[in-house]
Amino acid sequence: MAKAKAPRRTLESYTVKPINKTIKPGDCVLMRPSDPRKPSYVAKIERIEADARGANVKVHVRWYYRPEESIGGRRQFHGSKEVFLSDHYDVQSADTIEGKCTVHSFKSYTKLDAVGNEDFFCRFEYNSTTGAFNPDRVAVYCKCEMPYNPDDLMVQCEGCSDWFHPACLEMTAEEAKKLEHFFCESCSSESQKLQNSLNASRLSDTKVDTKRRRR
Ligand SMILES: [Zn+2]
Ligand SMILES: [Zn+2]
Repeated sequence: MAKAKAPRRTLESYTVKPINKTIKPGDCVLMRPSDPRKPSYVAKIERIEADARGANVKVHVRWYYRPEESIGGRRQFHGSKEVFLSDHYDVQSADTIEGKCTVHSFKSYTKLDAVGNEDFFCRFEYNSTTGAFNPDRVAVYCKCEMPYNPDDLMVQCEGCSDWFHPACLEMTAEEAKKLEHFFCESCSSESQKLQNSLNASRLSDTKVDTKRRRR
């Protein structure tokens, strides 16, 4: 007769001894990869369970994929700390947890004063079977029409509010940092036109004035 499986119980929290950190469901953690040359895996803890004696602690996780682990691979607009919330669930030994980390929303990540080792951001959900992303469209910027990579410096046009890569403007990052005002190509030609028409009307005003004075 098959031995009955020992009942397991759910833990509300668990202290990972080697790192002395307490984890709870909802926390994001770094886990030791099977290949030590690879970066740590990033996961969200869904549930923590132990056997009846409170030993053999396992964590139910939902994996975050790094861009290089996705079917499409890393793209130019992917940030170095970008991860995708996948539909890939797993059960792992709690012993493989190396540390806690924070997966920020894109917006709060871009507002961080300093990005630490444990800071990541997520703006896409990822289907690990099809390689599809959700949302499948994101806002694009610059002449190159790329989504925003928070690692790259961009300058904002004061006319249209679009953002531009210095390199796409044939400018170095240093030059871009020194800019006090910036108008993109199409806005500067627009403002040039506007300026010209203002000048033209001023000229005609002057003429009217002159005529009046002559009378
Ligand atoms: Zn660009
Ligand atoms: Zn512009």
